[in-house]
Amino acid sequence: MVTIAINHGTVVDTREKKCRKLHVGLEGSRVAVLSETPLQGERVIDASGCYVSPGFIDVHGHIDGELYPAELSACQGVTTTVGGNCGYSPADLELFFRTQEEQGFPIHQAMLVGHGTPLREAVGATDRYKKADARQIARMVSMAEEAMEQGACGVSFGLDYVPGCAIEEVEALADAAARYGRICPVHTRLLTEGDLYSLFEVIKVAEQTGVHMLISHFVYQYCEGLVEQALHMVDRARGKGLSIHIDSGMYTNWSTYFDTATFDHENICINHWRWEQMVVATGQYKGRVMDEELFFYMKKHCPHEALIFFEGKEEEVYQCLVKDYAVPSSDTGSYGRGEGHPQIAGTFPRYLRKMVREEKLLSVEEAVYKATFLPARLFGLDRKGCLEPGMDADLVVFSMEEVCDRSDYPHLGMPDAKPVGIPYVIVDGVCVVEDGQYQDTRTGKVIRERGDRWQRSF
Ligand SMILES: [Zn+2]
Repeated sequence: MVTIAINHGTVVDTREKKCRKLHVGLEGSRVAVLSETPLQGERVIDASGCYVSPGFIDVHGHIDGELYPAELSACQGVTTTVGGNCGYSPADLELFFRTQEEQGFPIHQAMLVGHGTPLREAVGATDRYKKADARQIARMVSMAEEAMEQGACGVSFGLDYVPGCAIEEVEALADAAARYGRICPVHTRLLTEGDLYSLFEVIKVAEQTGVHMLISHFVYQYCEGLVEQALHMVDRARGKGLSIHIDSGMYTNWSTYFDTATFDHENICINHWRWEQMVVATGQYKGRVMDEELFFYMKKHCPHEALIFFEGKEEEVYQCLVKDYAVPSSDTGSYGRGEGHPQIAGTFPRYLRKMVREEKLLSVEEAVYKATFLPARLFGLDRKGCLEPGMDADLVVFSMEEVCDRSDYPHLGMPDAKPVGIPYVIVDGVCVVEDGQYQDTRTGKVIRERGDRWQRSF
């Protein structure tokens, strides 16, 4: 008898990209058995009519220990989130790891160390329009190495937020990540919306350092007519043997805070952005379409509120996500209840609904592989991304006919409305979602990365 038996479902074999009618038995925090006959268990879940998949791995999040976005992620089937993205991670990673280990968390967390915070900040390179000097760069490198010793899974960049950062600075840190065999997710710098140089310069960094690079929320960086050319550049770089992957959410309309360089007035002018392309995502003006007066008021008095910027076409999302080197990601962040961007609650169900059920751009096996096995390999999560005996008991049970996102933009609906069609989500052998209801469990662990995993091929 196993602890939890999940019977009568269709199991997605992510290694072979095949589906099989199998019954899954979990023993504590591990997958124990896959059986042709129904299993006896202390708990029995009937997964008839549903797919049983490894838990989804969200490679681009900003949850970083916050409970509410973790709840919204769990309800989407995400069992592991990667935090510390866009150059922004907790100041003391060791302290973060220890606190999370003591408290437990609804889902597993892998963490990157951020180039902007804590590294730039700690060495006094606080002016985002100025480059760091050689001494500061050397100190950042040694701090990044220390963070990777502590278990950071790589170094993240938010170059859009530090327009003054020189490429030598990026290269030095990418080189450190390469030496540790870790990954570099990069939110590229965008001086103007029509600019592909931002992509060229990071591809160059991958070439110089040999680092494994993940270009963050690709469609947010290169939508509005640039996606095809941008993807072509990645194709060519990969053709030369560079290890470059991309991630993308299911939306083209991105969100960030008032006090970033992105929303400096000068940047808005250079890009010819219109006020009506912006909607307030958080705070007392949530849902308000921007106008000039409100913008300058909020930039001054509400710097920590977020804005959503509307651009691009949905087809551009599909163009990105059909690439075999693309993985889905949410870019979820820490927002209060009823606030934010629909990506925080809708990304993964929307991915399944759009990419598989409605547009038929990916098979269910391929879609699940890209949300599980591929990101697990990218981030060195050896016991995740695949349902086999001995693997971690992180699973999601979903109905392909019913899975549907319900979240919407703040001027149109509820950004944090939970999806339907995902009845069970299991983290470390415990149901964090049961009968579609969130359970507020704390079985998620921090994942400290050790050693160089790129010896292996995938
Ligand atoms: Zn970002």
